[in-house]
Amino acid sequence: MIRWMMFFLVGMLMLPATVIAQDTPIATSGLTIHVVQRNETLFSIAQQYESSVDELAALNGLGDVNNIQAGQRLLVPTDSSPVEQIAPRTHTVLIGETLDSIATFYGVTVSDLINWNPEITSPETIYVGQVLTVSGISTTGTFVDTTDITTAEEDVVHTIQSGETLFRIATMYGVTVDEIVQANAIEDPTLIFAGQTLTIPGVAVPQPASTLPAPLATLDISPPIFIEGKTGRLQLTTVTPVAVSGRFLEQELRVASEQEGTVHTILVGVPVFTEPGIYQMTLNFTDGNAQVTTLPVNLLVIGGAYGSEIISLLEDRNELLNPIVEDEEMNLLRRVMSPFTPDRYFDGQMGLPAAAPITSPFGTNRSYDGGQIFDRFHGGTDFAGAPGSPIIAPAAGRVVLADTLNVRGIATVIDHGHGVYSLYAHQSERFVELGEFVTPGQVIGSIGSTGRVEGAHLHWEIWVNGIQVDPMQWVSHSFS
Ligand SMILES: [Zn+2]
Repeated sequence: MIRWMMFFLVGMLMLPATVIAQDTPIATSGLTIHVVQRNETLFSIAQQYESSVDELAALNGLGDVNNIQAGQRLLVPTDSSPVEQIAPRTHTVLIGETLDSIATFYGVTVSDLINWNPEITSPETIYVGQVLTVSGISTTGTFVDTTDITTAEEDVVHTIQSGETLFRIATMYGVTVDEIVQANAIEDPTLIFAGQTLTIPGVAVPQPASTLPAPLATLDISPPIFIEGKTGRLQLTTVTPVAVSGRFLEQELRVASEQEGTVHTILVGVPVFTEPGIYQMTLNFTDGNAQVTTLPVNLLVIGGAYGSEIISLLEDRNELLNPIVEDEEMNLLRRVMSPFTPDRYFDGQMGLPAAAPITSPFGTNRSYDGGQIFDRFHGGTDFAGAPGSPIIAPAAGRVVLADTLNVRGIATVIDHGHGVYSLYAHQSERFVELGEFVTPGQVIGSIGSTGRVEGAHLHWEIWVNGIQVDPMQWVSHSFS
């Protein structure tokens, strides 16, 4: 109480000052967006944010860390460096939280939160991973000191889930990676393993479990902010067996349920041309008594910054010359890749399908003869391998298409399970049969120029539950 009054008085004396001093530096952690400036490299950006090239690459699904462009928007970890001790207290929004629950937790009002966070336009538009200011001068003109909340700090124990990184765990609990490393005497932060338990020091924010509706026990979303043209993954655990369903971006979510319906994995492809913004995902949990619990989750989708190409300059310019032929082929591919295989054949990061330089990245908008930009984009990654050089299966799976197509020429499609498929186009020769199970590293064909191309190259696509996504994210990031 004395402490509170002291702050009250300090607040009064300071009015109308806008800078608020705190007695202790508060460690904050979350994500923000950095717009790449000219002459910046991923390394220089990593240094600015006390991050690493690897971390930024994983966070943004970057395949080629040397290929970033001015104007590109990158997710970067926010961090309170020692020189910024006057920064106001922040809170990273967790799954299941509302402005109401956050206001209640910090003992402030929703109006205060809206006041301190001008980017909030309505109470519905906060999203997972958003960093909110939770202290400041209240609407009544007094300083609201939420640092008191930290006096109730206690350590919690977190069991590492498959695919989690220290950075993600730190973000989830609103602490820094350094704090977790120190509290657990971790020598090498890259060597953590699923099942390992960590002490999370001084957690002062509500735990995810306490904000999730029963029967949901944990919900992990990776990355916490989705990117146009990339893949995202949800992992859920429930205390009782349930059937999970849901919708996001007008897609029916496809769910792989294991361990008697208590562990669920959902992969989501964010379509290219999805407008940046906040989108609501709804998740439904149906128990054995047909009781349905619904959880809405707001997620931020940011643009993929794919740029554009003039098609007459491309080697494979003919890929788009006849949209009707292309559409027919796309419909065939959609049918082939629509079944959902509940088994997962891929494990960890995928390998590269060819030992060759990338000549055309995924996602580039394509214009025709320098004219208008079509609502079309490059749906794969091109590798300029020598004719006849090997095409390698980047992960295990079953061959579900082995055919010669109009646009893609001699083509193979592999089903990797959990709704993930990969496609290999323009081959000169194919070495696998329909129905065959391939293993990672197996040579499945050779690079050629069949179909509508003018030069030999491998065109590699990855589809996630019916959506074409950036294949290189699967090389740099594990979704298992
Ligand atoms: Zn291509």
